[in-house]
Amino acid sequence: MKVPLLDLAAQFRTVEAELREAIDRVLVSQQYVLGPEAQALEAEIAEFCGAKHAVGVSNGSDAIVAALMALNIGPGDEVIVPAFTFYATAGSVERVGAKPVFVDILADTFNIDPDAIPDAVSDKTRAIIPVHLYGQCAEMDRIMAVADRHKLAVIEDAAQAIGAEYNGKGAGNFGNAGTLSFYPTKNLSAIGEAGMVLTNDAKLADELRCVRLQGQTSSYEHARLGANFRIDGIQAAALRVKLSWLNQWNENRRKHAARYNEGLQNSVVITPPVNEACKHIYHQYTIRSPKRDKLRAHLNDAGIGSGVYYPIPLHLQPAFIGLGYKRGSMPVAEQASEEVLSLPVFPEMTAEQQDYVIETINQFK
Ligand SMILES: *Cc1c(COP(=O)(O)O)cnc(C)c1O
Repeated sequence: MKVPLLDLAAQFRTVEAELREAIDRVLVSQQYVLGPEAQALEAEIAEFCGAKHAVGVSNGSDAIVAALMALNIGPGDEVIVPAFTFYATAGSVERVGAKPVFVDILADTFNIDPDAIPDAVSDKTRAIIPVHLYGQCAEMDRIMAVADRHKLAVIEDAAQAIGAEYNGKGAGNFGNAGTLSFYPTKNLSAIGEAGMVLTNDAKLADELRCVRLQGQTSSYEHARLGANFRIDGIQAAALRVKLSWLNQWNENRRKHAARYNEGLQNSVVITPPVNEACKHIYHQYTIRSPKRDKLRAHLNDAGIGSGVYYPIPLHLQPAFIGLGYKRGSMPVAEQASEEVLSLPVFPEMTAEQQDYVIETINQFK
């Protein structure tokens, strides 16, 4: 049997007819950039996430850049980010000319350690970007308390967490803004590139719309620095189709996760603990094992796909070497990068496929 890490072809079979119809609608309308599909998507995503405003952008990385720009964060400013996340969380900070300051993570949830944030705050700190890694929210109560105390903005990187909740409230609604990615492997995926910024602040929403449109306030009048961060009409139409399936897809992921938790409880791997305040949507189901690489090879030999997110923590990435961090400075993130392994948890995975993954892991000593 073969079990891929993600089976996008299976998803395509579910939505193919609807997708073709949606693309056709855009072709006929000729509204390829922003337009009615993008507007409708923004309203639907805002509603889905429980946010007042949603601003469609080009991708999840630009969503972070746009949020930073709209908050006027730039050269001379510092922004706190977890050391264990995808490159774009910190890369976006450097793209606006600000400096990322890394903070270690919690060993159980892999999210930023709220207690470690105060030590990273300086008189230049302007914002914190917590990441809701793998689909589970960071500890937003404690993070917001630190942010309030130090008067810092908060941008939640919710690229992996659309539909996740913390104390019953949707990811992306705790800080000034929340950013989403619709990269093809994400829980809600475009048929190309797209992203979104959520906010409950009407003024910030206006600023974001201005930033994504070259800083334009009226035709060819540019009030501020902006860029082309516009969302594409075909992507918006495709995303509207898939959004109608997202609750069911996220529920399937949660069922698979519960089944893994049970099936792997006597194995040698550590299953992912869930913070009781969180509704986890399992963008990834990530186990840990000190023998991660051997386990991965064992799965690979059995025809089972797996992923390592992420093998190098950001403070040790060549791209950020100039920031001066050394190995040993973020021990929890460093250990996680050596031990994490994400298993297939895609919504369409069958019970037979999952049983095979569980059996194969239980054979591993
Ligand atoms: C995917 C992802 C991004 C970037 O999104 P793109 O749409 O690929 O630009 C940013 N942060 C995290 C945590 C992500 O997983």
